[in-house]
Amino acid sequence: MDRLRSCSLRDIRIDDPFWNKYTQLVPREVIPYQWSTLNDSVEGAEPSHAIRNFRIAAGMETGDFYGFVFQDSDVAKWLEAVAYSLSWQPDAGLEKRADDTIAVIAAAQQPDGYLDTYFIINTPGREFFNLQEGHELYCAGHMIEAGTAYYKVTGKRTLLDVCIRMADHICDVFHRPDHLAAVPGHEEIELALVKLYEVTGQEKYLKMAKDFIDRRGQEPNYLENESKNPGWTQIFANMQDYSADYSQSDRPVRMQTRAEGHAVRAVYLYSAMADVAYYAHDESLLAACERLWEDITQRQMYITGGIGSSGILERFTTDYHLPNEGAYAESCASVGLALFCRRMSQITHDAKYMDTAETALCNTVLAGIAQDGKSFFYVNPLAVWPEACMKHTSLEHVKPVRQKWFSCACCPPNIARTLASLGEYCYFENEEGLWVNLFVSGQVDLLRGGKKFTLTVKTRFPFDGSVSMTIRGEGAMDGKLMVRIPSYVKAYSFTVKGQETRPEVEKGYAAIGGLSDGDTVEVKFSIPAEYVHADPKLRADEGRVAIRKGPVVYCLEETDNGDNLEQILADTAAPLCEEYREDLLGGTLIIHAEGCRSMIEGLPEGCLYGTGHTVYRPAELTLVPYAYWDNRKTGEMQVWMREKFH
Ligand SMILES: [Zn+2]
Repeated sequence: MDRLRSCSLRDIRIDDPFWNKYTQLVPREVIPYQWSTLNDSVEGAEPSHAIRNFRIAAGMETGDFYGFVFQDSDVAKWLEAVAYSLSWQPDAGLEKRADDTIAVIAAAQQPDGYLDTYFIINTPGREFFNLQEGHELYCAGHMIEAGTAYYKVTGKRTLLDVCIRMADHICDVFHRPDHLAAVPGHEEIELALVKLYEVTGQEKYLKMAKDFIDRRGQEPNYLENESKNPGWTQIFANMQDYSADYSQSDRPVRMQTRAEGHAVRAVYLYSAMADVAYYAHDESLLAACERLWEDITQRQMYITGGIGSSGILERFTTDYHLPNEGAYAESCASVGLALFCRRMSQITHDAKYMDTAETALCNTVLAGIAQDGKSFFYVNPLAVWPEACMKHTSLEHVKPVRQKWFSCACCPPNIARTLASLGEYCYFENEEGLWVNLFVSGQVDLLRGGKKFTLTVKTRFPFDGSVSMTIRGEGAMDGKLMVRIPSYVKAYSFTVKGQETRPEVEKGYAAIGGLSDGDTVEVKFSIPAEYVHADPKLRADEGRVAIRKGPVVYCLEETDNGDNLEQILADTAAPLCEEYREDLLGGTLIIHAEGCRSMIEGLPEGCLYGTGHTVYRPAELTLVPYAYWDNRKTGEMQVWMREKFH
């Protein structure tokens, strides 16, 4: 296996009409806003207390721990987003703030390397006794991701050294006799330990990651038996009927064929399995990853790249069970799906995984954040009737408007770190050449055969399928340009140095060689807006259609189409009309469709049930990208529309 490397974020500049309005939000709005929330200074937002927890654990303040057992991870993800952001937008003030925060974290670390403020404050001396619920290894993983990212960008070792001491302690504890079979309840540490191995070259971190993966699901089941240990105490009341499939530990990972359980845990695990499969040359582990990706994308994923449909326990349910109104589809789960798929593309050189990553990024991840960067979705439904999203009902988990913050605030900083590291999805590199995955205007600097080059990309993708790429540099470039041909493309053409060419395509990448300074590659992808249907086994979408243009899924909003969107039927025989609107939603392509509204005539006023007949009145439909819904007036939203009978 030859793994493709993501290009360094320092070498990538994104300046793109589709992505700018989100990526540029990160340093300008999201990072300062999230800093305020972590310090509890946003009025009306759920309190976080996350920074104070570290200060209390460090002895700098007195007080009680507040928040969830995994509160520390919000600070870690914020730091990771800061690191990525500093890599392309240096900011001395922000770096100082990060350094000061890291100093507090370092001060909270225990002499043996242990670091988790919930347990330091609440149960000092008792660590790793409840892995099923405790999240210590999850928080440790996020801190390692922050520490390695911050070191790579700034060269500063303080947080990296904290993480090394913490990881050394973990390697020690989890090779003691009482923890020899122990695994994390919430996966995350595994992929983080691989990152620590990559930065330090210390094999023991890779081995610990592999041990955690190999141990998972073996008998006797550590997580199931843990509660029988003396002194074990429950943290979450709703975990009393814990079952091993919830944490993907009901069977060894190489025997898993179906994505099960908590969706975020699942995709973090699969990401680490892909990493370890690569480093350990483990074909059976890679085969398991391929099977799990197929299962997700063929039976368990929303058209928006959302996964984990159950509002209870944030988990996968059964095949084709993808309810629209009651969808859970946590933002973090789509972040994790993108992380998993990126790794799979890097290992297999197969573009099909990037199709899934792109779907998750362009729809659910972007929907998770408002266009002002100050409110967020945790849950991502595909149909909303705001009045029905009531507390103490089965739709309690669905919020019809983005929230300023959450008591369980995993998603907002996860979206921030993903947007700040978008460049890692855009380009890969290896001996063969530069791999262009996402079509994003901007530049990437390269060193090929000791010579410097810059690739400039100009495009209005995904609202337009034309992509222009120009190479500048020191003469002839070593290697090829490998351009992804997404699976949704109807047709494509390449013009290289002014000549139309038909490049060879392997696993979804077109290879273009012989490029030198000044050469241009023009690609035209045909990506018209189109109606799509779902497999009839997907009951929630039976008799319905959605509209997609390239990777972007569209939706109806009440603002454009009136209320009661269930009355609308789309006429799939009529053409779809695309219009770019500079003035709308920060600039967007909207879709005009034809359809009708069903009404019942003859039903007496005020009569809930009665005899009548259905009539259909013509209606013009306007659709906006699903990612942009709820950025205007609060109202109904619908992705899957009823289809007009022909
Ligand atoms: Zn989340």
